Amino acid sequence: MSLILDDVTLTYPDGDGRLTALDAIGLEVPAGSVTAVVGPSGSGKSSLLAVAATLVTPDRGRVVVAGTDTGPLDAAARAALRRERIGIVFQQPNLLPSLTAAEQLQVMAHLSGGRPKAARARAADLLDAVGLADLAGRRPHQLSGGQRQRVNIARALMNEPAVLLVDEPTSALDHERGAAVVDLLATLTAERGTATVLVTHDRTHLERADATVLVRDGRLVDPVTVPGGAAA
Ligand code: ADP
Ligand code: MG
Repeated sequence: MSLILDDVTLTYPDGDGRLTALDAIGLEVPAGSVTAVVGPSGSGKSSLLAVAATLVTPDRGRVVVAGTDTGPLDAAARAALRRERIGIVFQQPNLLPSLTAAEQLQVMAHLSGGRPKAARARAADLLDAVGLADLAGRRPHQLSGGQRQRVNIARALMNEPAVLLVDEPTSALDHERGAAVVDLLATLTAERGTATVLVTHDRTHLERADATVLVRDGRLVDPVTVPGGAAA
């Protein structure tokens, strides 16, 4: 249940011309492994995640999510695939202010038509897995930044995604809490068998990744010497 990007090129409109955000990207992320993506600001990291998430359709190339080639899918089929097979963690947690931690997770299952009882059990299991079993009844303002990001990660895993896409999850956290969040992501990836892509600024996080790729001007430079190498 891997994620495959095959010869993916993405351009955006740019004045009279086009800006090439991704240039013939090839990437395979096996199930149960973390691929870290590093690179300068504006190099195309978030665009890569947006394409992998099927939120943006590339100009050229294939995006294969857990064995499904997403190219031929219509918008509804793509939305269903995203809901059922892809978990997304953005930089900011985007939690709903009025819901408890447990409810943030349960609402995901509800949107997919899951049964409430099973959803409650799975939410409890996931909050336990991210170390928040005791805080399941708290609302976002009663949680720290690191705890909110843990809820965010647990929420992304609620529908048992095959692919987990994570964009700079630690940018709002101090170093120690950031490292703990990355540790958690690596553990959950191995336990739950997701194909995980982790965009990160922090080179110390690369130690927890199974593979690291560097993006520069929309192109993949691979492999990167880690940790402490000069390439990134
Ligand atoms: P990163 O996440 O590595 O900082 P991005 O993927 O956000 O890089 O951006 C890659 C390039 O594409 C940048 O030059 C950025 O300005 C441009 N870009 C990103 N999103 C859009 C968009 N929606 N429309 C036009 N240009 C965009
Ligand atoms: Mg970005």
